[in-house]
Formats: sequence, structure tokens, C-alpha cells
Amino acid sequence: MHPKQERTLVIIKPDGVQRTLIGEIIKRYERVGFKLVAIKMLIPSLEHIEKHYTLDPNWRRITGEKTINGYKNKGLTPPSEDPYEITAVILKNLKTYMTSGPVIAMIWQGAHVVQIIRKLTGGTEPLTSDIGSIRGDFVLDSYQMTDADGRAIRNLIHASGTIEEAEAEINHWFTKEEIINYHLVQEQILYDVNLDGIKE
Ligand code: ADP
Ligand code: MG
Repeated sequence: MHPKQERTLVIIKPDGVQRTLIGEIIKRYERVGFKLVAIKMLIPSLEHIEKHYTLDPNWRRITGEKTINGYKNKGLTPPSEDPYEITAVILKNLKTYMTSGPVIAMIWQGAHVVQIIRKLTGGTEPLTSDIGSIRGDFVLDSYQMTDADGRAIRNLIHASGTIEEAEAEINHWFTKEEIINYHLVQEQILYDVNLDGIKE
């Protein structure tokens, strides 16, 4: 597979739609040079969201550990030392959050798309996500607030974390027929070796 064929799944979460950031988010991915190959709006079911987050059998452990470390890095005591206990609560809150309204599901394609879209999107917790990233620029939220309120962190976007995760998530959200294979004119300047079609 040529690197330009890499694909990732992005979901604009219900808060992203409600904040009227659909255009802003799409613009950020589009202007880098990525190609949109599938897009739809839907209100996901509880089952669909639970399956989405548990496609990766390690997600429960990793997310729990990441959360525990987040507390410790701030000098705080995590609510539990057991990553699975932490993730059970996160998953319940995520289901409420992600089914609260319409979302935009998209597939983006291009070289290093998984890694670059994660970079543009920013870290999970908006309090600590980088300035210039979408989460850093357009939203405020923290584990401190979500813990106090017993809810999921509102960070506008889901983006696949790895190429394997992207493949599984794309299959979960889209059928083959919904994905459009096409050429984008700008791909020539991004990927062509010789650039021999420009001069008159
Ligand atoms: P990311 O979306 O950055 O890949 P994860 O896969 O770790 O993050 O978690 C999935 C989603 O679950 C996050 O985007 C966020 O909405 C929510 N979430 C994760 N960890 C927590 C937490 N400790 N407290 C509240 N919500 C969380
Ligand atoms: Mg993730």
C-alpha cells in the first residue's frame, strides 16, 4: 500500500456539532492536503458506541492507565488504582455523551493521515492539549471538571489512534459502498515524483 492510501476515522462529537465547528474542523484537515472519502451525519445508538470503544481489547486498560497517570502528573490522587474500574465509568459516561445528539462521521485519506490528524486534533484533555490544535483552540474541559460532574470529557472530536484502530473503526462506521474512491487534483503536487505536468 502506498502511504497516500492510508485512511483514518474521524467523528465530530455531539459538542462539536452543537458548537457549530463542523466547517472549522473539516477546514483544518482539508488544508493540510487530506482527502475526504466518506462523510455522514447520524445519531449513534448506545450499542454502536460501546462497540466502537471496545473494538480494541486493550482500550480499557490503556485508557484507565492514561487517566491514572493524568492524575498523578498533576499531583492528584486518582479515584481508583484499577484501570478497569476507571474505564467502566468512562465508558458509561461516553455512551451518554456520544448518543446525546447528531455526530459527523468521516473517513480522511492521505500520507500519515492517522498521525497527522491526531496531531492537528490535540491531546485528549483540552486543559493540556497544545495551543494550535483543534482541542487546544476551541474547547475547555478538564478531568477535574468531568470527575466532579460524573461525565465524559468534551473534546469535540474522535480520531483513530493507530492504523489498525482506523481499519477496525472504518469497518464499524461505514460500508464499502459509502466510501468514494476518486482523484483529487492537488494530489499531483503532494505525491507526484516528477511534477512534469505543470509548465505549459
Ligand atoms: P482520545 O479520544 O484522545 O483517543 P481515549 O481513546 O483515551 O482518548 O478516550 C476516548 C474518549 O473518552 C475521550 O476522547 C474522552 O471523550 C473520553 N475520556 C477519556 N478519558 C476520560 C476521563 N478520564 N474522564 C472523562 N472522559 C474521558
Ligand atoms: Mg482513542
